[in-house]
Amino acid sequence: MTDSLKDWRRTHYSREVKPEMNSPKVTLMGWIHEIRDLGGIIFLLLRDRDGITQITAPSKKVSAKLFEEIRSLRKESVVAVEGTVQESPQAPGGVEIIPQRILLLNTSHQPLPLDPTEKVRAEIDTRLDSRFLDLRKHSVNSIFKIKSRMLHSVRVFLENQEFIEINTPKLVASATEGGTELFPITYFEREAFLGQSPQLYKQMMMATSLDKVYEIAPIFRAEEHDTLRHLNEAISIDVEVAFADQKDVMTLLENLVANAIKDVKEHCREELDTLGMDLDVPETPFPRVDYAEVVDLVNSKGVNLHYGDDLSRAAEKALGEIMDSYYFITNWPSEIKPFYVMPNRKNPKISHAFDLMYRDLEISSGAMRVHLHDLLVERIKGKGLNPDSFNRYLAAFQYGMPPHAGWGLGAERFTMCLTGAKNVRETVLFPRDRRRLTP
Ligand code: ATP
Ligand code: MG
Repeated sequence: MTDSLKDWRRTHYSREVKPEMNSPKVTLMGWIHEIRDLGGIIFLLLRDRDGITQITAPSKKVSAKLFEEIRSLRKESVVAVEGTVQESPQAPGGVEIIPQRILLLNTSHQPLPLDPTEKVRAEIDTRLDSRFLDLRKHSVNSIFKIKSRMLHSVRVFLENQEFIEINTPKLVASATEGGTELFPITYFEREAFLGQSPQLYKQMMMATSLDKVYEIAPIFRAEEHDTLRHLNEAISIDVEVAFADQKDVMTLLENLVANAIKDVKEHCREELDTLGMDLDVPETPFPRVDYAEVVDLVNSKGVNLHYGDDLSRAAEKALGEIMDSYYFITNWPSEIKPFYVMPNRKNPKISHAFDLMYRDLEISSGAMRVHLHDLLVERIKGKGLNPDSFNRYLAAFQYGMPPHAGWGLGAERFTMCLTGAKNVRETVLFPRDRRRLTP
């Protein structure tokens, strides 16, 4: 083992090693994926960032010292290998490396708590406990390469439209919407909370002339339930636009989503193949389905949903059987949407809120907001909340607040759509749920 890479420099990644390459001598660095010792010949599989290369060591072709060094290697130890490239139809990728020297950079304990070769399947809890090993699997790290590309594409899309990226506090004095979904914390001698949404702050930005803002940041929800769609810490892609209504931001959202899918499809071909995903770029505009129509639709499927109820899981599932791609649910009853959602002027029982769904999964909620101070106070009271606890927020509505609209898109829920993950935990490096606070 060594603490020095002196004289060693990685020249290639595995995926770059090709039989026809014109640099016959290469240096690769990575982990020992597999070892097959046949006595007179040892095969090593070396795995790096996105590929695997066979290292072939016949006792006749390598020095006795090197042969013994290779024989003593253990799975998942970290090595640097220098050798010559040779065509080999039987080897993965049709190529193998005959080693000239090997540097053992670090050893791995045995047995492994998890098998990165995926021959032995493990439960999600075991995998999450040893996430660093789990992430050595291509099928697992592909999800994060896709998530990264999606976030990149979202940023580029918004920046191209002159949105400004903002950062709002995650330590907050009171709830965004009331409710019990809050994590209380001790803030010196006071009680405070972890932010459940940047909602009130991004709205205040609408009174500043910044006009179009976005934030990609954690939201914290103390949801007790243990589902395949809920995390206690998630990443929200939040957008707010001034001088706009719900229709404007629905158009923005569907174009952003379709653009991200197209971008991932173009740039993550290999990762999508690994996951067995065939992404279709959805046509825009997405279908709009009225909330009242949703109630009829799901009831026709035997679900018992009353007008005025939020969608139950059964209702979402029934909808998912009818709708097979992305669609909006519009014209929600005001009663089940938060106080900051604008009611329809002609029929205030209906609101300017919308949800974006993918089959049975809600991925975004948004609305035109209330920009009129007195109506906002009335709505806060109507929800049984005390307007005094919203003083600093309400002040922004008294000195020139333009009409505005926005939405929050869950980065993990969207990643589930892009990767086919059935459990939202698959889309977070270190998920936080009802039972999990480590690693
Ligand atoms: P749900 O009804 O599915 O619990 P919600 O309506 O409470 O979600 P919103 O407050 O509308 O969620 O948040 C906007 C978006 O943020 C959601 O559509 C979702 O994509 C994401 N999101 C919200 N809560 C969570 C969570 N606990 N875990 C993962 N993503 C979440
Ligand atoms: Mg919602």
